Amino acid sequence: MCILYMADPADAQKWRDCLSTLAPELEFRQWPDIGNPAEVHYILAWEPLADIAEQFGNLRLLYAAGAGVDQFDLARLPANVSLIRLVDSSMADIMAEYVLFGVLALHREILAYQEDQRSGRWRPRPIVHASQRRVGVMGVGNLGRAALDRLQPLGFQLSGWNRSLKEVPGGHCYVGPDELEAFLGQCDILVNMLPLTPETDGILNAARLDCLPHGAGLINVGRGAHVIETALLSALDEGRMGGAILDVLVQEPPSQDNPLWKHPRVLLTPHVASDVQIEGGVAVIVENLRREREGMPLLNVVDRSKGY
Ligand code: NDP
Repeated sequence: MCILYMADPADAQKWRDCLSTLAPELEFRQWPDIGNPAEVHYILAWEPLADIAEQFGNLRLLYAAGAGVDQFDLARLPANVSLIRLVDSSMADIMAEYVLFGVLALHREILAYQEDQRSGRWRPRPIVHASQRRVGVMGVGNLGRAALDRLQPLGFQLSGWNRSLKEVPGGHCYVGPDELEAFLGQCDILVNMLPLTPETDGILNAARLDCLPHGAGLINVGRGAHVIETALLSALDEGRMGGAILDVLVQEPPSQDNPLWKHPRVLLTPHVASDVQIEGGVAVIVENLRREREGMPLLNVVDRSKGY
């Protein structure tokens, strides 16, 4: 029984060490040294694989090395192979830390003050109490819920928007497409934490950004393709939106002529809000080995019908 590692070679040794300690029964192989492909029951990969079914006839589980699974074409994955996300609480904690940073930066208008500093302007703005600031999270899943939990003690007015009804600590959960505009209309700070699916691709377009209150801020930690960048730039340039903190972009890295690089009201980070944590990922793999042995449902299986 072996796991074939096809993710970042720089991390291979850490995965190997951690797996050999916690799952010594699992042989670790690293691409391209696949050995006998019939012995490969598990693959840990970042990139989509062509011909996976033909190459690895005994493959049971495909572990996604990244946090999202939008890079996999689920339709091309054999029906008997489950795709598994390696999410754990430490990944959610790290993401919540980034969201907290972004919300506080937008709440305290740090991007505007940074622009003032660069222009030599000393211009205090009215202070807004956290209780008067409405923060909305799109996608109240594993990561969205952890971010909301971290924000709650700061006293913001919280809300969420989700496909199904979820508990939002101290706030209201808006549900489904019919309630999206109402949700956006009350977000002074909008945090996008959705997975990328055909339904959510381009969801933050010009019309939806127009629903936000005047001067609203955006934090995007979902996927770049959720936001129509030209629409965001227009809203920022026209002052309809106050700022954006973007960890993900349509093209990563963006081309040098992308105006987002130098926009005074935009803070870019290179897709570092969170990531799969090796110890947490290995814990999922080990737990799933146990569950497979005992015939129990596996952890973190991607729902093919939903795409996440
Ligand atoms: P989950 O699957 O736990 O949560 C996704 C949530 O989004 C669910 O609550 C789901 O609703 C909701 N959702 C999905 N589709 C829709 C829709 N069409 N309308 C309304 N709500 C919808 O995922 P995670 O929280 O673990 O991760 C979310 C995403 O964050 C990842 O897919 C990835 O793209 C991104 N990410 C980014 C990172 C970064 O570094 N920037 C790092 C980690 C993740 P329901 O509960 O009803 O199913």
